[in-house]
Amino acid sequence: MNICLISYHSCPFSPLGFESTGGMNVYIRELSSELSNFPNLNIDIFTRIQDRKLEGIRYISDKVRIIHIKGGPAQYIDKKNLYKHIGEFSKRLLEFISLNGISYEIIYSHYWLSGLIGEKIKRKFKIPLVHNYHTLAFLKKKAIKREYRENPNRIKMEEFLLNVCDKIILSSENEKENILKEYKIPCWKLKIIYPGVNYKIFYSVDKLIARKSLRINHQNKIVLYVGRIEPVKGLFTIIKALNIIKREKISELENLKLIVVGGGKRESDFQRNSEISKIMDFINENNIGDKVIFIGSREQNDLRNYYSASDALIVPSLYESFGLVTIEALACGTPVIASKIGELRKIIHENKNGLYFTPDNPASLVETILYFYKNRASLWKRDKIRKDIINKFTWEKTAEETFNLFKKILKIYKFEKRAYLPPNYNTMKSFC
Ligand code: UDP
Repeated sequence: MNICLISYHSCPFSPLGFESTGGMNVYIRELSSELSNFPNLNIDIFTRIQDRKLEGIRYISDKVRIIHIKGGPAQYIDKKNLYKHIGEFSKRLLEFISLNGISYEIIYSHYWLSGLIGEKIKRKFKIPLVHNYHTLAFLKKKAIKREYRENPNRIKMEEFLLNVCDKIILSSENEKENILKEYKIPCWKLKIIYPGVNYKIFYSVDKLIARKSLRINHQNKIVLYVGRIEPVKGLFTIIKALNIIKREKISELENLKLIVVGGGKRESDFQRNSEISKIMDFINENNIGDKVIFIGSREQNDLRNYYSASDALIVPSLYESFGLVTIEALACGTPVIASKIGELRKIIHENKNGLYFTPDNPASLVETILYFYKNRASLWKRDKIRKDIINKFTWEKTAEETFNLFKKILKIYKFEKRAYLPPNYNTMKSFC
């Protein structure tokens, strides 16, 4: 099986935790690595050239290649401004396929921009297109309201993709329900496949040892944030909660500190991020700099020390397709305090591996943190937290379900001897 995987706006192997590199990159890395264990399966990942030094073809393994294709200037461009270069990228991708005589059997596109490219390939070669949105703009818009600043074409194009793709892979039940409510499409189009956690990287380290290695005072109460910094991720809610703690002089939380992992590596990464600027201004105005430690982005391999050193991970998102950091923290045995949204409601079991607070509500977060420390939640069994999560979420399972889905789709294509979609509704609906 030759798979054409499209990750137009972001190279899956770029450093994580920047504005455009997060869960989707991890998803593609882990999935392609696991899929390559299946016999007779090859994956070509097509991505936009963002750096002249990174052109051409790179072999990740003997079965996975990254192929860099030109689409606009060879430099970083905010994904909101990449729509206009899709035409050039698609044309060059089609040329590459024809020139090299490769025959792909299935396309798997990631994020709406790649979906639009996938649709062109599907049309030309008459092969099935499977798409993963990673986030949906209409849900993001509902969640962040005034802060919503996406490309004006995005919502319309995501609806277009719902119609033209053979299958949509989602990471959450909640997204499936929302799509079915919002759009008139048959449910067989949507397939939930949960992402996983790399349990070989994410495991528990003794808290004191982890703190020592990170030079964190063992007497402090430490909560952690990990991820990209943008309005929908809700970091501002934690900062506002810290302000309440300081203003109201909540003595139980006097020595509470927040560690923030993400946002980039250089000063310039922080400066060009408007959400970080807004947060920094608030921190300075309210004089709460002593409560927050920004350490920038870190490699995944370094994260288990941060998860293990912390009393809890806080996931303050206003909307999440899934939220990989949640299961990474849990795989390290660290409880999670999360806003009560989406799939998080299924992953977190109150008073067992975490707690909830009302999204976008700093006062509710303060109350929850207080409850967490008062109820000695740090005594929840770390081993059990880890065991439960890695029993449920592994990339092996994600890959197996994806592979089986691809096989079924290809079988239907062959069975119907149809060159072009939509395939027969009756055959497909048996998948529902
Ligand atoms: N991440 C990382 N280093 C950082 C920040 C984040 O490796 O400095 C990784 C993190 O381990 C997780 C991913 O980025 O796997 C973020 O995924 P998530 O689903 O939580 O958020 P998304 O980026 O999809 O919104």
